[in-house]
Amino acid sequence: MIRVRFAPSPTGFVHVGNVRTALFNFLYSKKGNGTFVLRIEDTDVERSKRDYEINLINDLKWIGIEWDEGPDIGGKFGPYRQSERVEVYRKYAERLIAEDKAYYCFCSKEELEKQKEGAMKQGNSPVYVDKCRNLDIEESKIRIKKGEKAAVRFKIQRNIYIEFKDMIRGNVKIDSNLLIDPVIVRSNGIPAYNFSVVIDDSLMKINLVIRGEDHLSNTSLQILIYKAIGIKPPEFAHLSMVMGPDNTKLSKRHGSTSIFQFRENGYLQQALFNYLALLGWSPDNGKEILLKHELISAFDLNKVSKSSAIFDYKKLQWMNREHIRLMNDEELGNVMTSFLEKRGIKFNHEIETFKWIGQASKVLSNYKHLLTEISEDFKEFISIDYSKELIKKIKDSETSIKVVSMFFEEISVLDSPIEFSKVAEILKKIQVQTKIKGKELYHPLRIALTGKESGIEFKEYIPIIERGSTLNIEPCVKNMKYRLMAFLK
Ligand code: GLU
Repeated sequence: MIRVRFAPSPTGFVHVGNVRTALFNFLYSKKGNGTFVLRIEDTDVERSKRDYEINLINDLKWIGIEWDEGPDIGGKFGPYRQSERVEVYRKYAERLIAEDKAYYCFCSKEELEKQKEGAMKQGNSPVYVDKCRNLDIEESKIRIKKGEKAAVRFKIQRNIYIEFKDMIRGNVKIDSNLLIDPVIVRSNGIPAYNFSVVIDDSLMKINLVIRGEDHLSNTSLQILIYKAIGIKPPEFAHLSMVMGPDNTKLSKRHGSTSIFQFRENGYLQQALFNYLALLGWSPDNGKEILLKHELISAFDLNKVSKSSAIFDYKKLQWMNREHIRLMNDEELGNVMTSFLEKRGIKFNHEIETFKWIGQASKVLSNYKHLLTEISEDFKEFISIDYSKELIKKIKDSETSIKVVSMFFEEISVLDSPIEFSKVAEILKKIQVQTKIKGKELYHPLRIALTGKESGIEFKEYIPIIERGSTLNIEPCVKNMKYRLMAFLK
């Protein structure tokens, strides 16, 4: 039975790179009918904040990642917040001390620095720094009783190689002499990451750890701690880092990095989900636009690449458009509503209105790919501001005014909504009768209908306003007849 986990530290807005780690865990567990655990690693008391945890949970939920056990829903191996498990870590640390696998270290920060410098000067590796490694345990206990502060350090076995097989990176081998005895419990009683992570992963029965490659160096150390507490280490899969286009770690310099920003900027949840899933992995059939269930069934951790993944904002935008097209109209209209409202465009919340907004947004998505941009262009369908100059431009031109008047005459006898095929027929007729064609035919009509000299293609634009005008949409959408009447008056 697969048990994987995502173990973020709530010290800020969650980075897309971390969400990709969460996503790979999620996909892997879903594919294998396993369990996905969310554990909050909040032992860094100064930097961890409950608000960050709340945001993190909202962000993960928004993108479509669900977990089976976690701080918000509980589970049989809880609590799932490390700050609530301090007592558990303390017990394990005491056990390691009693078994001579860990020891009290009384060195102050300054002292350690000094020792390190000294060791380096003598050409020794910093491994030999810690002078407390061989202190007598009984003496240490007396010092602590007397009130001295001590951290607990893990005693690394010397002169061995630590080896493990990483599912993505293959065999990893590290000389234990390169590792410094790590602090596992700080002098204030708070456990350190490398210790609490091992205790939790083992108590929570995690059998595969999928995490970022930045933790690769911690893994060897953690394997030694697993051995010391007598538990078989889980398997490991270290994902490559997510880089910006310039091959440095993806950061604010490159663009949005937090889920919140992507969401605010008008990316669809399913587009971001799809994009992140394909960062470092791709399905065998080469398909790129995939929905959640398709990603779950196609996902294969063994095929995840070990080279770093480059975050391509342009590609994500393209995916966003593809997902806009895949959405049903009502759903898209619903999502768009909040973006439109932010721009002061408030429609009534009726199903038919949502459907129409969805259709109109799909048309706009042929030009712009983000919901924010689409909402900006949405004005084209509802407000027409005729500038004096443009009106004059048409009215002063004999051919232009002729085209507009003839067109109006033809449509005024028709019932609304007028089909685009009918519009094309009328334009053809005007062309035959007047010999006016091309730009001279379309341009005046565009200005008269939209108030603008350029914009969406007529064959896409007209059906939207014609249909919209027949619906009970507030504010109401003006059809061609209405617009031309207003223009010509
Ligand atoms: N709290 C650690 C982090 O956010 C977890 C690393 C791990 O998955 O072990 O980097």
